[in-house]
Amino acid sequence: MSKDYKLFIDGQWVRAGSGKTFESINPSTGESNGSISEGDKEDIDRAVKAARKAFESGPWRDMAPSDRGRLLNRAAQKMWENADFLAEVESSDSGLLINETKNIAIPGTIDVLEFYAGLANKVQGDTLASPGNRLNYTLKEPIGVIGAIVPWNFPLMLTMWKLAPALAAGNTIVIKPAEQTPISILELVKLFQEVGIPDGVINVVPGFGQKAGNALASHPGVDKIAFTGSTKTGRLIMQSAAQNLKPVSLELGGKSPNIVFEDANLESAVNGAMFGIYFAQGQVCAAGSRLFVQDAIYDKFMDLFLKKVQSLRVGSSLDSTTQMGPQVSEQQLKTIERYVAAGLDEGASLLTGGKRKEGAGNGYFYTPTIFEDVTNQMTIAREEIFGPVVSVIRFRDEEDALAKANDTIYGLASGVWTNDIKRGHRMARHLKAGTVYINTYSMLDSAAPFGGTKQSGFGRELGIQAMDMYTQTKHVWVDL
Ligand code: NAD
Repeated sequence: MSKDYKLFIDGQWVRAGSGKTFESINPSTGESNGSISEGDKEDIDRAVKAARKAFESGPWRDMAPSDRGRLLNRAAQKMWENADFLAEVESSDSGLLINETKNIAIPGTIDVLEFYAGLANKVQGDTLASPGNRLNYTLKEPIGVIGAIVPWNFPLMLTMWKLAPALAAGNTIVIKPAEQTPISILELVKLFQEVGIPDGVINVVPGFGQKAGNALASHPGVDKIAFTGSTKTGRLIMQSAAQNLKPVSLELGGKSPNIVFEDANLESAVNGAMFGIYFAQGQVCAAGSRLFVQDAIYDKFMDLFLKKVQSLRVGSSLDSTTQMGPQVSEQQLKTIERYVAAGLDEGASLLTGGKRKEGAGNGYFYTPTIFEDVTNQMTIAREEIFGPVVSVIRFRDEEDALAKANDTIYGLASGVWTNDIKRGHRMARHLKAGTVYINTYSMLDSAAPFGGTKQSGFGRELGIQAMDMYTQTKHVWVDL
């Protein structure tokens, strides 16, 4: 049943000043999941002021860090109690498979919150080596008001990557969800409200990127922007943030190579290649969208890969037997169609897929697609498609694989499939990427830093390192 959702500002559920609303669409059915109050510049301003007030004069920043951690753990407990509900909301809004939200996305999101709840009382500065008549030490302090702008592919998880470390360090936050998927984030903050997170510490303003998103990125009252989204928008965010020189962290797009050597375990590599590109319908920043296969095993690998891909069941995200769900929107389907046409125009061979799924009602379903005879210069090998389309490229040897894999503007993730332990580590050293997976793909761990190099962005989310993105160092000099 469709519901009405308001903005969450200063602990209150309020309507947008403009009175406008927009619909959040279920990508499996094309029907509305809810009517959302549409925030714009004025609402962002209200939210930033509330976050500022909560930071400067509220109890959050000065609360004992252990108490902050305890409250965050209580929110995590609430999330466990509501995990099935959150999984259903997330799947309805984003099209992620219910099996994946239940077993991977929601437990993984709660794990991130628990990880940072545990770090709240472990933020520490240093005492420096100084002469006897002097004391020099550093304090690690929260930065202030954080602006978080998130995409639609894993709404709760990518919000939590920012919310949890920001709050653990004592900051306050304004979140701008993606316009396609605001509902799960609004449901999440209800749970935080129930455990008593003080008013104004968390604020959520759903709305469109060019209005609400841009207003948040350029707002002079925001002290830092944490952004996940496309490289194109990342550039705009940097320009907006430059107005008051606020720091930004950017988790952007990718065109990640997944490289299968002749000595790999064939079955594992095929499964890894499938998960690499078809998990979440290819709407994964780290998707292994360029699949490099060594000449010597090419035919054998492709036979097995093709059979498995053609057997994938495409259907509703809420059906637990579905293996690949819908794309997030009609617009995303059109983007995929443009890229498939470009692949055909530029001479790649379409091995399977390449069209919408027929008879799928009003949902946004595409068939799992494989292109072969792809060269690294083709558009489908250079640009992020963000859909279930893999470009298969042959390679000769290690040197050839490395040269081709690194020949991209992106540097988010890479996969290597080999049973030669030395080769695996050698490749890990030379691949230009924030994460290298060896004999696995697209794994996440709350303790392991995640982020990109080159035009995949900068800064690292997750892990202890992420606390550095939400704290600043103050030096104190004392004459004794
Ligand atoms: P997007 O850049 O279109 O939108 C992301 C967010 O930015 C949304 O909330 C949107 O409303 C907002 N936005 C859009 N224009 C804006 C503007 N001018 N100013 C401020 N905010 C604006 O990206 P998307 O289509 O939602 O998500 C897909 C992209 O996200 C892909 O490129 C994917 O690779 C990337 N992504 C990266 C990671 C990572 O960790 N590196 C993770 C997930 C997704």
